[in-house]
Amino acid sequence: MDMQELVKKHIKFTSQGDFIRSVKTLKARYNLSDSEAEAFANSNEMEHIKLMKSKFTHKQSSAKRQGIKFGFKDFQEFYYWYEAQGDRCYYCNTEFALLKKVFAKELLDSKKFNSTPHIERKDSNAGYSVDNCVLTCSLCNNAKSDMMNAENFKNYFGKAIGKFVADLYSDVITNK
Ligand SMILES: [Zn+2]
Repeated sequence: MDMQELVKKHIKFTSQGDFIRSVKTLKARYNLSDSEAEAFANSNEMEHIKLMKSKFTHKQSSAKRQGIKFGFKDFQEFYYWYEAQGDRCYYCNTEFALLKKVFAKELLDSKKFNSTPHIERKDSNAGYSVDNCVLTCSLCNNAKSDMMNAENFKNYFGKAIGKFVADLYSDVITNK
């Protein structure tokens, strides 16, 4: 069982319909033994595909609700776009794992925001697509809103926000 190959195939399969992790389906579709199918169904990789699929459908329906064009061709395109972003905010370069720790330690506290990455449109007049979207932290996305273009925001505010989060994390400052 080549896990990477299976993951690739299952991303493609998930593009064609709902997320499926039934052992029976996996077994038949990928020609696996019972124990292989079971292991794949319960793998971290499978859990990750499930999470990505829910991000995809959530974004797709929220775009529709807001009347914003959703230009990702399918789940597969979205999945590989997301992976290619790296695990950092496009604007401030903060690692999402670090931001998660900052919120977990309550160095930052908000009723509205958390450490979950946001799928942000660089040009808020254009839709969601591979070319127009980046992953950002909640601080950057909220500060930029629809007021500044991506380049100006990155140049003028990105660095400052990155430093603020890093200083919070290393106890240089507090935010109480
Ligand atoms: Zn940021």
